[in-house]
Amino acid sequence: MGYVKEERPMTIGVEGTWNIGSYHYKGSRLIEEYVKGLKQKKLIGSFCPGCGKVIVPPRNLCGRCHRIMDRRKIVSNMGTITCFIVSPPIEKGKLKVLGMDPVETGLIKEGEVVIPVFVKFDGSDSNTDTILLNADPKAVHIGMRVKVLWVKEPQGALSDFEGVEPV
Ligand SMILES: [Zn+2]
Repeated sequence: MGYVKEERPMTIGVEGTWNIGSYHYKGSRLIEEYVKGLKQKKLIGSFCPGCGKVIVPPRNLCGRCHRIMDRRKIVSNMGTITCFIVSPPIEKGKLKVLGMDPVETGLIKEGEVVIPVFVKFDGSDSNTDTILLNADPKAVHIGMRVKVLWVKEPQGALSDFEGVEPV
C-alpha cells in the first residue's frame, strides 16, 4: 500500500467556518487532576494496570495495551531530554503563534532562542513536551538531565509548569 501523499499530493480545502469554542476536550477531567497536582508542584501520570506504563500528563486509555488507566502515580520533577530543537533567534514579524506575533505580545524577546524539548521524567514511560529554559543552546544534548521550573506561586493551571532547566 502506498502513501496517501501519492494519491493526494495537494492539501484538500473545505469551505465553511470552524467554531473551535464549540468543541470540548474529552480529557478535561484528567487535565483538572493534572493541574491540581501542579499546584502542589507534583507531576501526576496515569498508571496502566496491564503493562505497567506510566504516562505524563495522565490519559484515560493505554495506547500500548488499550486498558483503562484509572490509577495515578506521581513521578519525579527530574528527567532526561529525549528530543530537542534549537530555534534560530526569533525576529519580530517572522513567526506567528496562535495567529499572534510572540515578540509583539511579549512572550518571546527579540533575538531570543527557543528550545522545545521532550522530557522523560524519572518514573514515567512517556515523553512530555515542554520548553528548556536557562540553558546554553550549545550545551543541549539528548540525555541532558533537567528539572521542572515552577512558577513562584502555582495557581493550579497549566502555566504553573514554566518548563525545564538544566540540573
Ligand atoms: Zn498498558
